[in-house]
Amino acid sequence: MVYSYAQLEQWDKQYVWHPFTQMKQYVNERPLIIERGKGSYLYDVNGRRYLDGYASLWVNVHGHNDPELNAALSEQLEKIAHSTLLGSANVPSILLAKRLLEYWPHMSKVFYSDTGAAAVEIALKIAYQYWKNLDPVRYATKNKFVSLKEAYHGDTVGAVSVGGMETFHRIFAPLLFERIEVPAPYVYRMEEYGSEQDVVRHCLNELERVLASQHEHIAAVIVEPLVQGAAGIIVHPRGFLKGVEALCRQYGTLLICDEVAVGFGRTGTMFACEQEEVAPDLVCLGKGITGGYLPLAATLVTEKVYAAFLGNVEEDKTFYHGHTYTGNQLSCSVALKNIELIETRGLLDDVQRKARRLAGWLERLYDIPIVGDIRQKGLMCGIEIVKNRRTKEVFPRAAMLEHRIILEARRRGLVIRPLGPVLTFIPVLAMSEAEMEEAVRILYDSIVCLYEQARAEFG
Ligand SMILES: *Cc1c(COP(=O)(O)O)cnc(C)c1O
Repeated sequence: MVYSYAQLEQWDKQYVWHPFTQMKQYVNERPLIIERGKGSYLYDVNGRRYLDGYASLWVNVHGHNDPELNAALSEQLEKIAHSTLLGSANVPSILLAKRLLEYWPHMSKVFYSDTGAAAVEIALKIAYQYWKNLDPVRYATKNKFVSLKEAYHGDTVGAVSVGGMETFHRIFAPLLFERIEVPAPYVYRMEEYGSEQDVVRHCLNELERVLASQHEHIAAVIVEPLVQGAAGIIVHPRGFLKGVEALCRQYGTLLICDEVAVGFGRTGTMFACEQEEVAPDLVCLGKGITGGYLPLAATLVTEKVYAAFLGNVEEDKTFYHGHTYTGNQLSCSVALKNIELIETRGLLDDVQRKARRLAGWLERLYDIPIVGDIRQKGLMCGIEIVKNRRTKEVFPRAAMLEHRIILEARRRGLVIRPLGPVLTFIPVLAMSEAEMEEAVRILYDSIVCLYEQARAEFG
């Protein structure tokens, strides 16, 4: 049975509550209803195609409907779809853990889950219990977490607790545990501190001040390495991550790196930590891990952390945590193939080369007066829209200018998403240069179109 767009639209609006969406607004718009995908393109039920400029929410690596990923998945499906990791093992989860740890030689164990937020929750609980297992008396108050301003680590209550995005945080504040916030090097909006390196120094000094006075109460520092994605693609200048690591070592606290968004080639290397030779105590992986096929996440830990959980059963050093679909075979087998293809297809070199070309095309957007800042790391880009370039004032939220830009881009055949005043362009990693140039052209025309409307509305 093939349903018409009109029928699906009606049922979508009648039955589905969409995430992060003001549904009162949503029901007034024509929804994009995807039917299939191929390579860098998504196709809607009306047969229209769109360049996937958000990699289906930052997950797609090799493109949609990749024959080799499909084959890996069907092959596994012929054997078994799922059995449990509670008290038993399975083949793909063993092979994937071994493969992941080859990229992290200083780490020793992989704990599976199914969403990035869960990978973060797990890291937080492990970090907390680590200190209790080591010495419940000495570390009785080593319970707090430090995270960056505008941090984003997912939407479950623990992950929101370490988040720093005002809108999400404020609503749930009474439910959240305490977090210590330190500034993030958001260079574009911190010019009062001086140069890029001055901003880094300021942020590291603030972190040091917190750690020096409270390290006895701090279980871990959690950061998104190199790029704060959901905050609006805030690209940290070189040296910040390394500096955070050094301070964590100096003050005896664990370092958690949340690679959920930046992992699996997004910033031009397999993992972001490689670029500053940082060796965290815990790492969270998700999003691109299955090439955008299935939900899967993982928390990696060092031997030092893992060893603290070993003991006799009655000591209760066990990590009492686990999700039903942990280590699912379909997800793990497609993740294994994803990693193999990243290597055999030379995707990382490709990403670096394309990122350099892309930087040149994006530069043209500065022609448009409402483009305030363009930030990019690998194939992760943010374009900050401002009402006034000099004061960096943004448009009023109610004007929904950024939303109107992405609707215009959709009409022209490109799907992207805004994060507040920032348009994000996070293409399928394997998107070709020609497709990417086309996407930037559409972006350009769409911003110009709304710039002209904004001039009429705001003067
Ligand atoms: C997306 C994201 C998460 C949450 O992942 P989900 O799969 O949406 O739960 C956590 N951390 C970072 C840095 C992310 O970008």
